[in-house]
Amino acid sequence: MLRVKRISCFYCGTCVAICPRANLELIDSYLFIGKDCAECGICAGVCPVGALEVLNEEQI
Ligand code: SF4
Ligand code: SF4
Repeated sequence: MLRVKRISCFYCGTCVAICPRANLELIDSYLFIGKDCAECGICAGVCPVGALEVLNEEQI
């Protein structure tokens, strides 16, 4: 499961652009996470402020 720390996200769009599944969408100042996430972690790796993290089942 992908989680976004909304307090950290500043809507730069880097994660949106890099997601291979086009699962992220930025509308105004809100990052939407779709239902097609592969939990690959690529978006989390590029977020400049560490606002994204892939949680395993034990962390949910
Ligand atoms: S974890 Fe991978 S598939 Fe899921 S939103 Fe991020 S880049 Fe896209
Ligand atoms: S890369 Fe990080 S700061 Fe930029 S829109 Fe995505 S979650 Fe927000």
